[in-house]
Amino acid sequence: MGKSNIAKWIEENQEKFTKMAKDIWDHPEVGYTEIYASTLQMKELEEAGFRVTSGIGDVQTSFVAEYGKGKPVIGILGEFDALPGLSQKVNPKQTPVIQNGPGHGCGHNLLGTAGVEAVIALKERMDAEMLPGTIRYYGCPAEEMLSGKTFMAREGVFDDLSCALTWHPGNNNMTSNFRSQALTAIEFFFSGRTSHAGGAPHLGRSALDAVELMNVGANYLREHVPDGSRIHYQITNGGMAPNIVPDNASVYYFLRGAGRDQVAELEERLNKVAQGAAMMTETSVRWEIKAGCYDTLPNETLNELMYTQAEVAGRMEFSSEEKKFAEELRETVDPSVLAAANEIIFSISDDTNKILETDFYHNRKHFGQTMGGSTDVGDVSWIVPMGQIMTTCAPLGIQFHTWQATASFGSTIGMKGMHYAAKIMALSAYELLKDQSGILERAKVEFDASTKGLTYKCGIPTRVKPPVLNSEAVPVMSN
Ligand SMILES: [Zn+2]
Repeated sequence: MGKSNIAKWIEENQEKFTKMAKDIWDHPEVGYTEIYASTLQMKELEEAGFRVTSGIGDVQTSFVAEYGKGKPVIGILGEFDALPGLSQKVNPKQTPVIQNGPGHGCGHNLLGTAGVEAVIALKERMDAEMLPGTIRYYGCPAEEMLSGKTFMAREGVFDDLSCALTWHPGNNNMTSNFRSQALTAIEFFFSGRTSHAGGAPHLGRSALDAVELMNVGANYLREHVPDGSRIHYQITNGGMAPNIVPDNASVYYFLRGAGRDQVAELEERLNKVAQGAAMMTETSVRWEIKAGCYDTLPNETLNELMYTQAEVAGRMEFSSEEKKFAEELRETVDPSVLAAANEIIFSISDDTNKILETDFYHNRKHFGQTMGGSTDVGDVSWIVPMGQIMTTCAPLGIQFHTWQATASFGSTIGMKGMHYAAKIMALSAYELLKDQSGILERAKVEFDASTKGLTYKCGIPTRVKPPVLNSEAVPVMSN
């Protein structure tokens, strides 16, 4: 009975949340600048009776909204940041709203809004049944910069949770049973001595030479790192003109690996490469850690719960217009990319003719397998047991972080996937508030076994403060 009321409440109130997700999609803000989105969500939650605390750990756009009291404490994670350069209309041809402007190419307009929708639906049920326990929505900024949740975790805001639930917009309906990669993001700054490049090159000590030699060293290092590790870089400052020996230059590295230990070892070795490059060029080097997130630990107990609640929530359906839009979007992607994309995202349907996935799968097949990307959701999964799903918000074969994805996540396809995810999270949290079959305890036993007794240690040193950015001065970065 309680469950059908939750589903009914979401169906009756979904228009409000469609509007919120569209509003955030219409006002895309990159990481740490999400004033519009976080204000909008905080206002809605405050009006619904939640206690809201913002600015966690000096992250301006972070917040926690809480309702109820006592145990269990169930957290739902939300995000709302956009990506640079992915501005796009809901149109199957590349048509930016603003040339080179930001856009929601990862669907975080849906991600956060589904969480708000789920906790408000749940709150209605808690009131009606006088259920004990606490529910929280976490407004987490800058996921694309891989650090919003890490800064929040450093403040301990996830520590007292019984468990966390989250989701990500996807091309599939399924439990997220894979592991993401741990990551450290470091920028290296070299300083040398400027000089006239033609008139007095012998007096100069080029910081750019140091950057280039560091990159050569890093490329040799690649052969001798564990399989599956990733090293990528971008030169963030290469000097101003060829005829000026640059006294300052910088390079930004991402290091990825199967776990924090592996990444920490890569970091140590890369630091030696940087020092070697500085020595060769008679320059000096310093570095700053920008992000340090964990791999994601899947929790089979919680994912199983979410799978059973997806069955309760029912099956998705798409209209003929939505199918047509999906087909048109897919036509803009090379067939080889379409085919490969399904592999990358661990699609498990065997039906290659499918365009929009409506079945929900429990993805046991890929349990614990590592996928290429990274996310700060990983940090939360090392602090408390965490369940995670994906729902269909885009056609199969459409890759995230593309203009096609922005178009999907602003369309009714994205909105349907969002309401579906909200339902599954609300139903799962409702089940956990009652917890008649000891799910939380089993989830914790599994969590203890998979963390092998290792406790979470924040990957960003205490001296590193969260960035305070305005939308004009934002580094281009994404996961
Ligand atoms: Zn994302």
